[in-house]
Amino acid sequence: MTNKDISRVKELLASPQKIVIVPHKGPDGDAIGATLALKLFLEAQGHFVKLIAPNEYPDFLKWMPNSEDVLIYEKTQEKCNGHIEEAQLIFTLDFNQLSRAGEMAASLEKASAPFIMIDHHQQPGTYAEVTYSDVTMCSTCQMVYHFIENIGLAEKITPQIATCLYAGIMTDTGSFRYRSTTSLTHRVVADLIEKGADNTSIHENIYDTSSYSQLQLLGCALQNLKVVEDLRTAYITLSQEELDRHNFRKGDTEGFVNYGLSLSGIVFAAIFIENKAENIVKISFRSKGTFSVNDLARKYYHGGGHINAAGGKSDLSLEETVEKFISILPGYKTSLSL
Ligand code: 5GP
Ligand code: MN
Repeated sequence: MTNKDISRVKELLASPQKIVIVPHKGPDGDAIGATLALKLFLEAQGHFVKLIAPNEYPDFLKWMPNSEDVLIYEKTQEKCNGHIEEAQLIFTLDFNQLSRAGEMAASLEKASAPFIMIDHHQQPGTYAEVTYSDVTMCSTCQMVYHFIENIGLAEKITPQIATCLYAGIMTDTGSFRYRSTTSLTHRVVADLIEKGADNTSIHENIYDTSSYSQLQLLGCALQNLKVVEDLRTAYITLSQEELDRHNFRKGDTEGFVNYGLSLSGIVFAAIFIENKAENIVKISFRSKGTFSVNDLARKYYHGGGHINAAGGKSDLSLEETVEKFISILPGYKTSLSL
């Protein structure tokens, strides 16, 4: 953060404010961890905070401290619109274009309050008065830690806040293994453990709480895995029928896309998940090395993200989506073949 931004943030938070905090649509561990941590921190400073998620988030994140206070815009739209109108300050966390808030975007665009963005995705928008954007950061949770540190209040990080931040850093770094995990990340995480984050329980709460049907769905996804060997690509499909057969619940497919990348020699992995209710196919992309899935998701799938992890969607049928994907792959021959 620049010194100017730090001073402005201190001014904006100088007296108790009505604050709204927003994660992106389809919030993940980093988005929920960062927003809950910031909420707990700001409330302890005397502010009045509403955390509004555009839609539901996975059950495997619901153990997180204060999770019961998350408002879901899709469920209580009118009440949430009231909070957004009344807000004196709005934080957007883990996204950088208002369109990533889904149906909530229209209400955010009308809001009179200034925005503070804290985010690590590529190509930030210009809607915020304070834009704390850093694409080198592994997670928004690490940025929330630095945000609190920058305004001189690191000693106010409680065990609950530390738990939320640890969980988000852990999930967005694939348990501290992706390239964005730096020595600074480990220093932050060490401090969070010292401040009361119980690392073993956090890992167990997130990774060891699968249901039987979720593991069966993983089995189905792995059966569907296809490899395009000469282009070092692997992809998975899951149809609505397959999801229904395995009692699919939000979050059940989290991490499935990574199995493609775990194959020896594969540098590009995708998963295509049919969503008949929204009439779209939701897509996740992952890569290793310099192949930018952010560029590909932006160009072809109304999406974006990071160089090695991005997402998007397709309005075609599942079969047509896969056909189109296969047809665009050769265009990336120089970056994908050996
Ligand atoms: P995931 O594949 O886990 O849903 O998302 C991977 C990354 O891509 C995350 O950082 C997420 O924010 C981003 N992402 C996922 N879906 C979309 C999308 O539809 N649009 C944009 N701009 N980013 C997305
Ligand atoms: Mn993130």
